[in-house]
Amino acid sequence: MSISTHHLVNKFYTFVWILNCTQAFDTEIHDYMENISDIKSLLSIPKDIVILSHRNPDGDAIGSSLGLYWFLKNQGHKVNVIFPSEYPDFVAWMPDADKITICDLDKDFAIRCIDNTDVIFCLDFNALDRVDPMEQAISDSKAVKIMIDHHMYPEGFADHMLSKTDSSSTCELIFDFISMLGQSQLIDGKIADCLLTGIITDTGSFKYNIYPSTLRVAASLLERGANNDFIQEEIFNSMNEKELRLLGHCLYNRMEVIDELETGIIWLTKDDFEKFDIKRGDTEGIVNQILKMKKVKIAAFIKEQPSIIKLSLRSKGDFSVQEIATKYFKGGGHKNASGGYFYGSLNNCIERFKRSVKTQLEAEKTS
Ligand code: 5GP
Ligand code: MN
Repeated sequence: MSISTHHLVNKFYTFVWILNCTQAFDTEIHDYMENISDIKSLLSIPKDIVILSHRNPDGDAIGSSLGLYWFLKNQGHKVNVIFPSEYPDFVAWMPDADKITICDLDKDFAIRCIDNTDVIFCLDFNALDRVDPMEQAISDSKAVKIMIDHHMYPEGFADHMLSKTDSSSTCELIFDFISMLGQSQLIDGKIADCLLTGIITDTGSFKYNIYPSTLRVAASLLERGANNDFIQEEIFNSMNEKELRLLGHCLYNRMEVIDELETGIIWLTKDDFEKFDIKRGDTEGIVNQILKMKKVKIAAFIKEQPSIIKLSLRSKGDFSVQEIATKYFKGGGHKNASGGYFYGSLNNCIERFKRSVKTQLEAEKTS
């Protein structure tokens, strides 16, 4: 893909502007308005806008997408939210979640939206393979592309990017973005609920990945009417019986703890998926259970899917599962929470994971 010099220059400045901007409030961002004013004038008249987020959307993906959707829709824009695959049930309460287009279910419509839109927002991902069936359409699109994300090592596919790794969530960055536009007064209770959801899910309910800005933004969202009690209940106390029994099965029958590697692994086979009638989202959060053991610093949840093996990785402290995901499993994410995938058998994947942890621990010892 050829990129014009104008785009490259624009990208460079946008990135610098973003990196310099560490505060979330209208009054403190005047110095960095150069590029945001381009975006502001772009959005000053009603546009056709597509908001995209990643495959297997989590609370942050849907919270940031619907938060931005309501902000833009309230100002007269026509907005379509598109995800590659379905979202989990625990976020189905979110306003207009039922209007989201799922590319796996309606690819023609998704591609038509992308082909005909003026602006594309890419939220909570920074590599185009995270939106795989739409990758080509996005690359080919002439729309203005704006990426807002908090993962490491962004690909350079967007015209403007707000890429900040020291931020709890993309939802926090959407709050920043709206504030940079000087329009934080337009964040109403509905938008606040969406944005608080992603902050809660990406921080394990304010347990990790918290920055001073995170608590400031969360406080501001509460002031604007976010209903914390309701959101926490929907996210954490809405399991059905099948899911809780599945968790029991994982912990009792599918968990291996390797003391010398301070590592725990839970795996699920294709048969498990059938036997427990596992649907998308039913396995959310299982990987975090492994870290409840004091002796475990590294956790993997490995699922045998129809054509790939999918890994969810977590760690405590300095060990980077992001490196493991990137080097060995074509993936990425954050130091303490990452994911990737593997082509081959479940057993080979588990063995590869164990070897990769061993290699990385040995490398850490010698460095
Ligand atoms: P989860 O385990 O909750 O699915 O994902 C944890 C983190 O890893 C998320 O930030 C997610 O974006 C990232 N991640 C998960 N799977 C992949 C993948 O296949 N590729 C990349 N690049 N990142 C992933
Ligand atoms: Mn996120």
